Amino acid sequence: MISGHTRAFVAVQNGCDHACTFCVIPQGRGPSRSRPIPEVLAEIAGHHDAGVHEAVLTGVDLTSWGADLPGAPMLGELVAAILTSFPGLERLRLSSLDGVEIDPLLLDLIGGERRVMPYLHLSLQSGDDLTLKRMKRRHSRRDAIALVESLRARRPGIAVGADIIAGFPTEDEAAHGRNLSIIRELGIVTAISSLLARPGTPAARMPQVDVAAIKARAAELRVAVAKERQSWLEALIGQPLQVLAERDGTGHSPEFARVQLEPGTMPGSIVTITPTRIIEECWHERRKLDRPVVRRLPQDVGAAFRKPCRHCRHDEAGRCAARRSRRCADPLGPRPRAAARIRERLAGTRFERGADEAAIKEAVAEEIAAILRPVAKPLEVVAFRARR
Ligand code: SF4
Repeated sequence: MISGHTRAFVAVQNGCDHACTFCVIPQGRGPSRSRPIPEVLAEIAGHHDAGVHEAVLTGVDLTSWGADLPGAPMLGELVAAILTSFPGLERLRLSSLDGVEIDPLLLDLIGGERRVMPYLHLSLQSGDDLTLKRMKRRHSRRDAIALVESLRARRPGIAVGADIIAGFPTEDEAAHGRNLSIIRELGIVTAISSLLARPGTPAARMPQVDVAAIKARAAELRVAVAKERQSWLEALIGQPLQVLAERDGTGHSPEFARVQLEPGTMPGSIVTITPTRIIEECWHERRKLDRPVVRRLPQDVGAAFRKPCRHCRHDEAGRCAARRSRRCADPLGPRPRAAARIRERLAGTRFERGADEAAIKEAVAEEIAAILRPVAKPLEVVAFRARR
């Protein structure tokens, strides 16, 4: 892993067996596939050994995890296995959950296990039952409310986020009103409002809502969420929060409130912070946190570790311009699969704009060495230039 990484995202599931009428994922990713428990534990063991304090389980349809595995275990079993296998893992977070697929064990763990973070992100999509039917969702408004009420009864501080779609085809003002009211009823503090409809989906063939109306409704949903978020953040003022420090000078509390840290706080550490004021005014105005701008690694991460040819010093294509060797010493040239893995793992890595070049090289070299350890000796990083 990259040194200073604060949390590990562990993809435990991919694909989806459902057919929500607005979604293109089942066409693109195929049926649901789950990673077996031993494989997931092995990956988490690596992160845990590297000092990661928080693991985040992710999946396209996370709560369907296990249905394709022998014995059809459910997600609660996987979460319990992780907690039992790694008693020193301080935080386990779950990405978006489909409420109707949450099994009783998982419900118990979310409701009562301190190391499962008290933040529930629901794949809600709508607060209107007819719209939910037209979306081919499997829950009703009442189901979502009952789920959140039962979790809040067990764990009062749990925060709730949700995906909600504004302006689904055929949605009228009354249905939109039910979207707004469920935000208030559930106290939804983060939400994503999508505009529809993707070409090729059944939703694209339904009567569409006027684009201006969709935009206006999405704005109203955002305002409703911002109000809930404001009250939630106000309630956190004065409470000591265990914050996992990130690389950008902020961190997240267990309930996923973003908190500004003291300058110099070590990324990856867990610190106790008592918030004294709200800096952001609403959930999408994060610029107010005065975070440093971050930059991404370039697409061609190979450029960061390609060794220039000692004859011609050029390294762009991995070939020797002086024709004195067959190719420049590109250490990954003969290992395309390793190169692909490195590219995949490093392409999304973000560094602070002011990050020290030597530290970046060191982090990249560490990652490359970890990936190649079974097949090659560690590589020397000889050049790095990030796109700004
Ligand atoms: S919205 Fe989620 S559950 Fe529905 S089809 Fe897409 S991935 Fe599957």
